[in-house]
Amino acid sequence: MGLSRAQHNGLVLCGEYDEDMRECIVNEQVIVNNMHGSLQRGEFLVYLQPKYELMSEKVIGAEALVRWLHPQLGFISPAKFIPVFEQNGFIYQLDKYVWERACQLLREDMDKGRPILPISVNVSRIDLYSPNIVQVFENLIRKYRIPPRYLELELTESAYVENPQQIIEIAKQLQGKGFPILMDDFGSGYSSLNMLKDMPVDILKIDLKFLADSDKEDNGRGGNILNSVVRMAKWLHIPVIAEGVETQQQADFLRTIGCECVQGFFYSKPVPVDVYEGLVDQGYSS
Ligand code: C2E
Ligand code: CA
Ligand code: CA
Ligand code: CA
Repeated sequence: MGLSRAQHNGLVLCGEYDEDMRECIVNEQVIVNNMHGSLQRGEFLVYLQPKYELMSEKVIGAEALVRWLHPQLGFISPAKFIPVFEQNGFIYQLDKYVWERACQLLREDMDKGRPILPISVNVSRIDLYSPNIVQVFENLIRKYRIPPRYLELELTESAYVENPQQIIEIAKQLQGKGFPILMDDFGSGYSSLNMLKDMPVDILKIDLKFLADSDKEDNGRGGNILNSVVRMAKWLHIPVIAEGVETQQQADFLRTIGCECVQGFFYSKPVPVDVYEGLVDQGYSS
């Protein structure tokens, strides 16, 4: 699909959504001016990126990732709007919308007798400061009548940095209610392995982009770090998901070091819900 451009507020903008989700040029003011209207009009979409078991290549669940598709502005990248929303607090409203959508999808699977696979949602550090956050999640699963183990919560490692005690306490409460806690972006630079012993973590997510040369050689430094983290996690009985897997070589290397789960463009990009359901069904029809 081609990219049509239009002048809007003096900015060059993409007028059309295309398959590669080409980004458009927007500034912070445009983002802020459009966010409420877009949420009301349903212009934020929830895409799912499948997670796979590496050996069987079976889908084992998905991460919910928000997409902003503005009818005039076009596709706006999360990398652009999430930081703005974290600054002005809108992230909490948007995240609640995404969490609710994830619960709806789980409920639909249960009603239709489809395979029920967990969906993980991102929980911004801003959300964690909301005084009734635990209640919000409890209300959601009660409303949709879903067991908490299907709604996995991704907390980024960096959330723990500014106020470790408070965040650990909230994460423990959520874990205590039965929500699996995933530590997102583990190894991005803030925490040490040592911090793991204090943090409630059910699953570790390691992004290969934080490990520069993991795809080159088994003895590259990135490969060594990955290998050590996977071994340590196994020793602690914490499952690991490697994300950002883009190449066959990376997948092969992950297999040799015993990493069990993967997520990345090599397997699938984030996709609309119906496409995700097709991917799940492929794995369950044989
Ligand atoms: P994240 O939570 O680390 O999510 C993974 C990001 O990596 C996604 O980018 C995904 O599309 C991308 N990705 C997946 N596989 C690959 C790969 O193989 N290679 C590369 N290069 N990238 C890959 P996305 O969707 O653009 O989101 C970026 C970040 O924005 C997310 O990083 C997350 O921090 C934030 N975000 C996205 N959706 C939400 C949301 O609903 N709520 C909140 N609070 N944050 C969100
Ligand atoms: Ca995430
Ligand atoms: Ca991540
Ligand atoms: Ca990533």
